[in-house]
Amino acid sequence: MTPRFAARMDRVQPNAIGELLALGADPGIISFGGGYPDPTLFPAAALEAVFSEVIRAPGGLSMQYAPSDGLPRLKEQVAALMTADGTPCGADDVLILQGSQQGLDFAAKMMVDPGDVIVTEDPTFLGARIAFDPCEPAYAAIPMDAEGMRMDVLAEVLARTPRAKMIYTVPEFQNPTGVTLSLARRKRLIEMANAHDLVVLEDTPYRQIRFEGDHLPTLKSLDTQGRVIHLGSFSKVLVPGLRVGWAVASPALLHKMKLLKLAADTQTSTLNMAAASLFLDRHDLSAHIDLLRAAYRRKKDVMLDAIRRHFPQDVAVTDPEGGLFTWASFPEGFDATAFMRDVALPKARVAYVPGGSFFPVTERPNHARFNYSAQSEARIEAGIAALGAALKAQM
Ligand code: PMP
Repeated sequence: MTPRFAARMDRVQPNAIGELLALGADPGIISFGGGYPDPTLFPAAALEAVFSEVIRAPGGLSMQYAPSDGLPRLKEQVAALMTADGTPCGADDVLILQGSQQGLDFAAKMMVDPGDVIVTEDPTFLGARIAFDPCEPAYAAIPMDAEGMRMDVLAEVLARTPRAKMIYTVPEFQNPTGVTLSLARRKRLIEMANAHDLVVLEDTPYRQIRFEGDHLPTLKSLDTQGRVIHLGSFSKVLVPGLRVGWAVASPALLHKMKLLKLAADTQTSTLNMAAASLFLDRHDLSAHIDLLRAAYRRKKDVMLDAIRRHFPQDVAVTDPEGGLFTWASFPEGFDATAFMRDVALPKARVAYVPGGSFFPVTERPNHARFNYSAQSEARIEAGIAALGAALKAQM
């Protein structure tokens, strides 16, 4: 048959990055492409023990269906983590999700009619656009500087964008740039969301992985009108394979998200929720996060130091205060996609993510995202050296 797809499926397309990154999966290639945590730091023994304990729960409880909004104990634990982090909330304010990615999908389904405008950072997380696109939004992309999304530009854009509905932001160590939204701008963003009656979607998977600098309040903690949907995740601080994340939002928003959760998948895996919950009871998550922060900080330093020594001088990179990524800006005219296809992969045997597809409105080809968490320090040095030699030969 020739399927008569719904109109929204026009926006559901593969992107060229996926194909390029598939090539990077070759074990002979040093990949800085994926956003993977370091698998050698996964707490595998602890998880093995909690899973085996969980599966023996009386009455097969952890193998049974569970409430759609999540296991009550886990919701309490998440609320306690949020409260300790300066965002006071209770278990009733929490919806357990299958990763924070599911919250991106729900937020768009809940708020966005075709043609409504989602305001994003420019560049923004590609996975968010993949989640939003089926709702057929238009995008307004706001340029960033060292303090994050530029509020002067946001003010101008909102003044002439009556269909703006939602602002999406990754306030800490943004994917892809590594940049953090300053405190002054957080306050300004909330003021503007209030003035224009917008929902703010705050996506924080990297928040706990801070190497240095001030601990900043969440947008949710600055929200006095119940318009921030806060998304959190265990993917980067525990393991992504659990697929456990959460939303914290006002009752009106959370109620609709719970209905979407029921429609999407009934509930997050009981086994995985129970394992996450027991892990939090039996182990010190914040001690584990300290370990990750120290390891990723070292890897970030190794990568930036190698870039300074090996890359041409006119390549600028961000120095993130946390998270998993640095963002490289090459001189105008450099095409990071073509360079990856023609030189980096076949000759230097190194992969990164060409930056073009992170820009929702106007692609800019002279950028690339580099992940430093997945590779060993030795492979970071070797990969950056090989790439630097190739860049110097080319540029
Ligand atoms: N938001 C951002 C900014 C991300 O980088 C990611 C994962 N790379 C996600 C959301 C989704 O994470 P998860 O669904 O694993 O919680």
